[in-house]
Amino acid sequence: MAGALARATASAALATRPTVATRQNRARATKAPTRVAASASLRAVGARATSMPSFMGLKKSAALPRFRSLRDSAPAASPRANAVVTAAIAPGRPPYAGGVVDNEQLLEESDACGVGFIASLKGDRTHKTVQDALTALGCMEHRGACSADDDSGDGAGIMTNVPWKLLEKYAAENGIEGFAEGSSGVGMVFLPQDTKQAAKSIEILNAAIEAEGLAVLGWRDVPVDASVVGRMAKDTEPVIKQVLVGGGGATDDELERKLFIARKTAEKTAAGEDAKMPGIAENFYVCTLSSRVIVYKGMLRSVVVRQFYEDLQNEDFVSQFCIYHRRFSTNTVPKWPLAQPMRFLGHNGEINTLQGNLNWMASKEADMTHPVWDGREDELRPICNPAASDSANLDRVAELLVKSGRAPAETMMLLVPEAYRNHPELDATYPEVTDFYDYFAGMQEAWDGPALLVFSDGKKLGCRLDRNGLRPARFWKTSDDYIYVASEVGVLGDVITRAADVVAKGRLGPGMMIVADLEKGTFMENTEIAKEVAASKPYKEWLEDVDVMAAAEPAGEPKLDATQLIQAQAAAGYAAEDVTMIIESMAADGSEPTWSMGDDTPMPVLSGRPHLLYDYFKQRFAQVTNPAIDPLREGLVMSLEMTIGAKGNLLNNDGAKDIPAVSIKSPVLFDEDVDALLAIKGLGAERVAATYAGDGSEGALAKGVDALCAAAEKAVRGGSQCVIISDKDGDKDTPAIPSLLAVGAVHHHLIAVGLRTRASLVVESASAFSTHHVACLVGYGASAVNPWLGLETCRQWRTSSKVEASIKRGKLPNMSVADVQRNFKAALNAGLKKILSKMGISLLTSYHGAQIFECYGVGPELIDKAFKGTVSRIGGLTMDDLAAETEMFASSNFPGEGEMLANVVARGMFQVKPGLEYHANNQEMSKLLHKAVNLGGKGDGDEDAYKLYQAHRNDRPVTSLRDMLEVVSDREPIDVNEVESVADICERFCTGGMSLGAISRECHEAIAIAMNRIGGKSNSGEGGEDTQRFVPIDDADDNGKSATFPHLNGLKNGDVASSAIKQVASGRFGVTTSFLMAADQVEIKVAQGAKPGEGGQLPGKKVSPYIASLRRSKAGVPLISPPPHHDIYSIEDLAQLIYDLHMVNPKAKVSVKLVGQAGIGTVASGVAKANADIIQISGGDGGTGASPLSSIKHAGGPMEMGLVEAHRTLVDNDLRDRVVLRADGGCRSGLDVIQCALMGADEYGFGTVAMIATGCVMARICHTNNCPVGVASQREELRARFPGAPGDLVNFFQFCAQEVRVELARMGYKSLDEIIGRNDLFAQVREQEGLSAPGQPAKTSNLDLSFLTTSSGQGNKSSDRRKMETHGDGRMLDDEILEDADVKKCIESEGTHVIKKEIVNIDRCAGARVAGAVAAKYGDEGFGGSLTLDFEGSAGQSFAAFTVGGMHVRLVGEANDYVCKSMSGGEVSIMPPPASTFNPEDCIIAGNTCLYGATGGKVYMNGRAGERFAVRNSLAEAVVEGTGDHCCEYMTGGCVVSLGRVGRNVGAGMTGGLGYFLDEDDTFASKVNGEIVTMQRVCTAAGEAQLKTLIEAHVEKTGSPKGKAVLADWDASLKKFWQLVPPSEMNTPEAADVVEEAVSASA
Ligand code: SF4
Repeated sequence: MAGALARATASAALATRPTVATRQNRARATKAPTRVAASASLRAVGARATSMPSFMGLKKSAALPRFRSLRDSAPAASPRANAVVTAAIAPGRPPYAGGVVDNEQLLEESDACGVGFIASLKGDRTHKTVQDALTALGCMEHRGACSADDDSGDGAGIMTNVPWKLLEKYAAENGIEGFAEGSSGVGMVFLPQDTKQAAKSIEILNAAIEAEGLAVLGWRDVPVDASVVGRMAKDTEPVIKQVLVGGGGATDDELERKLFIARKTAEKTAAGEDAKMPGIAENFYVCTLSSRVIVYKGMLRSVVVRQFYEDLQNEDFVSQFCIYHRRFSTNTVPKWPLAQPMRFLGHNGEINTLQGNLNWMASKEADMTHPVWDGREDELRPICNPAASDSANLDRVAELLVKSGRAPAETMMLLVPEAYRNHPELDATYPEVTDFYDYFAGMQEAWDGPALLVFSDGKKLGCRLDRNGLRPARFWKTSDDYIYVASEVGVLGDVITRAADVVAKGRLGPGMMIVADLEKGTFMENTEIAKEVAASKPYKEWLEDVDVMAAAEPAGEPKLDATQLIQAQAAAGYAAEDVTMIIESMAADGSEPTWSMGDDTPMPVLSGRPHLLYDYFKQRFAQVTNPAIDPLREGLVMSLEMTIGAKGNLLNNDGAKDIPAVSIKSPVLFDEDVDALLAIKGLGAERVAATYAGDGSEGALAKGVDALCAAAEKAVRGGSQCVIISDKDGDKDTPAIPSLLAVGAVHHHLIAVGLRTRASLVVESASAFSTHHVACLVGYGASAVNPWLGLETCRQWRTSSKVEASIKRGKLPNMSVADVQRNFKAALNAGLKKILSKMGISLLTSYHGAQIFECYGVGPELIDKAFKGTVSRIGGLTMDDLAAETEMFASSNFPGEGEMLANVVARGMFQVKPGLEYHANNQEMSKLLHKAVNLGGKGDGDEDAYKLYQAHRNDRPVTSLRDMLEVVSDREPIDVNEVESVADICERFCTGGMSLGAISRECHEAIAIAMNRIGGKSNSGEGGEDTQRFVPIDDADDNGKSATFPHLNGLKNGDVASSAIKQVASGRFGVTTSFLMAADQVEIKVAQGAKPGEGGQLPGKKVSPYIASLRRSKAGVPLISPPPHHDIYSIEDLAQLIYDLHMVNPKAKVSVKLVGQAGIGTVASGVAKANADIIQISGGDGGTGASPLSSIKHAGGPMEMGLVEAHRTLVDNDLRDRVVLRADGGCRSGLDVIQCALMGADEYGFGTVAMIATGCVMARICHTNNCPVGVASQREELRARFPGAPGDLVNFFQFCAQEVRVELARMGYKSLDEIIGRNDLFAQVREQEGLSAPGQPAKTSNLDLSFLTTSSGQGNKSSDRRKMETHGDGRMLDDEILEDADVKKCIESEGTHVIKKEIVNIDRCAGARVAGAVAAKYGDEGFGGSLTLDFEGSAGQSFAAFTVGGMHVRLVGEANDYVCKSMSGGEVSIMPPPASTFNPEDCIIAGNTCLYGATGGKVYMNGRAGERFAVRNSLAEAVVEGTGDHCCEYMTGGCVVSLGRVGRNVGAGMTGGLGYFLDEDDTFASKVNGEIVTMQRVCTAAGEAQLKTLIEAHVEKTGSPKGKAVLADWDASLKKFWQLVPPSEMNTPEAADVVEEAVSASA
């Protein structure tokens, strides 16, 4: 094992170090290509790389690290790279001076990483601690990434004690006096390369230090080996020096604070110098200035940190602790200062709530004071800086709190609170902890998102995990009193050799913390720490003054008459469908309505009809860099609680006066709740009228908004802590200011005048009736919303004769008027949670004011007034344009003199209605297309009919942004015969991911066959495929019929019904090893167009027995795909999944599907760095499946913007040639293809139109299973009506390709290659500047589409990109195994063989490639031999993923996350080393998300596992000795036995399979999510036999002492087991004969 460690950390090993792994030695001896350790020496690799072939010709076995292969062909210092770096370091952005955050800045940087620490609790300061930390850091290389040169790390570093021994020796040798521990400090400083700027920086820092009464004792050049710095990092490499500071008598905390102020002063002075010396503010950076800690870091790879900083090799560099960090940034040109650790913490994860946190911190800082600063707080502001990363900003806030006297543990608790609601253990045992969290919930919104935070102030060292537990965090303690924490176990490679020394192993669960006191040598775990912190102040007493407002009883009668209602609705902008399809539906069902087929209406700013202001705002959503969370099954971490009132001093809070006076459970208020607020004494709630003079005069709305802001300010200055912005007084002459504009303007005005935290904003809004509307209002500052007209609409609906009649007929339940209002509110609440969850935010307080939206069609005047910082890239509406739309609504309630409205008008936003809003997919279009393709496989298509279809498409009203562009070629036309062929063009066509289940077998297979015929690619969607389809058809007769596929028409021999692209999505339905091996490409669907950030759902009626068999589920049981991929919570997780897929099938390219939104370029860069082969960009309007209406309409940006941004960012960062870009969906004709090509796409996806071409008639009832033509139904009789045949689609695509050829010829170009990325051939269609073009609405006159018409270059390389070989990862452990002659023989001849291997954590996905090789030959369960892989050590992530039948995988040691992911068969057993002294049942042996999406096999773990054990398991059986939260979540089959304690939320969303849980302390019932499952004792012989057999096998395979003990006293043990049974298993022999036992099971 020592050898294995050395191999893993060869790097870490100095060049002279002789020890290398046994396996590596062998490889070298035979000159065979060697699997490259993540930590392999950079120089050595670089030397090998120079003789490697370029990437295009790269052999997969080449010994290259993950990305180096791609860049070998790049010149050492290309002009492009230089240009990029220059742009990155000199962006021309002024230094941040505080105030509202520009969201554009936040979109440029996202990161995620690997992190850990080592510390001696005994207080030993040793050089070994530093060396071990560097070794561990070396084993984290795969969790980080590099710039486009594959050499410049995104960042790596360590934090230690100040190395006094080393520096005191230096001081003595250099005659520096007075430098000593206890009375001095040290600054680690990055200085600009420019000598003048460097000198100025030193001058600035010297002055700042001396101004605090401290002494600059000297400056030390930090010795570095610059030769290990990558090319791009070298361009920005700072000059690194240390400043030695004398304390001038100050010591301890006083000295720390003086050093802190000196640093802040220097930073501000440098920022002030930036105008004179551009760049100095960014390039002068103080890593640390402290008397306790120091940080050594840089834009380095893990493995070269030790080589770069020569100090770290010096034996005199000793430390008691060492935090280490490796960074993966999606930004391709990260900066040296953003490497971590920061000054206080190191962060693995992403802060999803950053925008809100920064805005609120800016609002709060004026009131943040503390006596320790002696009135100098202003010198510490601004606290945050949006140009820095999320980690850096969290660090800034945490550092300030700690320096102001808060304990580090308390600081982390209030900034990153755990999910303390519904926490039985806390409630019962530590209620004071709940009080602590409740108190601070009113003052400090959570910094929420996946986060493993390690931190230290030099005296305390700790680690905190986010409330969802979304990052891995393992810790272990040794008998010599050392404590270790790491993102992964095995980073020291000593699991076997030090087995006897380990006294405990654990993991951090959601919201947990550990802290070591470095002075006292103590170590505390979560509850102890929380209790100590919570007991320090009388929080319970302070909370007694808070008014916890319960929801009032809503009115029992309508308040308006019918005419008044319609007038009010019309004035507020309601359309008839808003009332009937949205409000009434929510009132009736308590949930949002669903719809299908995406949004095919014009964007609001392109529409000829007026829109509510909300419609111009799109919700942002999480993708890749941060995860969506699951509001359905993991809602226990979510909360809509809000507070109303003034917020106090975060630095020095003291009692109830510092927190808001009122607490509410939901931001949706009934009218009566507003009355209650007005009545609360001391709150001083005051209404201000949001109306304006609607006389049509220029600037009238702007004046009204200014008056509103002044009134709100006056109210706050007068002492009101609650300003109620009300539109109730609006009428025809004084229309309501749109609520969103009103609240945004007041919010920003109060920020500007420094009053924002003194009062909350509540909105009475007529126009707010949907979840999106309420989300917008809260997102721009409202603490609560009273949707008074929506509620009145509910009341009127309930009392209407229509509803009365329906209730009498039993068509509706008998609901009271109050009930329907509560339903409406419940629907709004649920929708709000969904909107939060898609951004990965758990708490509404963190969403509040966070402005997590982007605008399409809102001009700068409005943005500056009310939505400062919101991304709005194409301009649009002015204040007067908005007034015109508003007044159109306001005046519409009086259509003519003396006339009254009978009803509000319809606008046709959802359904196609004659004379109303245009829909791109419509019945006329489908008829034309059916004629063109000659629907039914009747031979060739009709060219003339296609021309009619083409004209219908190409002459449509402006619908999407590209309709505002025209192609203006720079060449003369050429003959079409000179243009590339139809066949060549067709190869670039793909169809969208439509699952078998959502659409019928007939349609799915017809599309696949058609795409295979033309050389394009169909996409399986999520749900698996029948293995029958993987074999070419050879029994087609002359009539096009086949006995194998009797349900299809128009078949030919040689047809293949297998989709070339196999989709892997969050549900993992049907993702077996053989499915993946049958793929040409594997698509990771991160987001989908119709509802980005959300999951899918297949209604139970669509889950036919056939569909259920493919998805390994139960017929008739609905299938929910939760929004998060449980193996992608960060960019490095995506990199891991891409790695896994490349491992199992090294031939299949991996694509990542994204949906357009601002910032997608940064995400795409991260995805390219994560080694994807293809990136797909969808628009937010696509999608065919069922989705909530509000999601279809209000989430996701236009495909054009996303595509152009992704292409441009990839080009700018030298990454474009790594990936193929695919525009996904939205194409309907050859013109779309040309437009997408000009915007940068190499390939083109067709979604809905592929369904239409095979028979869809656009009835839009896909989600009902009643599709009249069998396209989207699983009903036999309807499927029999399917009219299509593969030839129909072939005809369509050939017409399309021909259209492309004709257009290319017209443009004078011979191939798509030549025009890809040539945005400069676009011109915006407009009559003249400032005016819209004929046919376009007037409001388009201020649109500026230069974002789309500016060239990004990169022509003529597309074909090369498309021909690239599948990206490789170098040589792997599995490659060694597969080369073993006996293994080969075993697989070939189905023999028996056992192979033994050592394993360390860099050996990721071990066993997967072997599994793929077996599955390719025998399928998932067909292998008749027995191949045993026997491992010893610490397995890297995804151990034994994709294992198939006939494989036996054994691990002695420990494993990380994702063990047995997508396992399809076989057997896996894991046990601790025999020398271990701990009880296995008490210790962690495997990480999070084990068995994710497993479809078969058996697993035995002699130890505990982490969170989400067996999530999505569908057939595997497992025995484990305890798990974290969410065990068996979304399980659809199989069996799980736990012999130890489990966390919360067991069985959430579990629709199949059984669970057995040993409950020795009677706590299990409180952990179960009883929404679906029932718990019962084991009451049948079959159940007992199943349980006992599995435990016996567990003992046999692992020797489990716990298992033996259970079996030894079986009768008594059996009584302590609970059986978890979903309804679908109720009648099975294992679960039947239920003995009822009264248990309240809830989570
Ligand atoms: S015809 Fe079928 S597939 Fe097409 S929209 Fe209607 S229900 Fe959906």
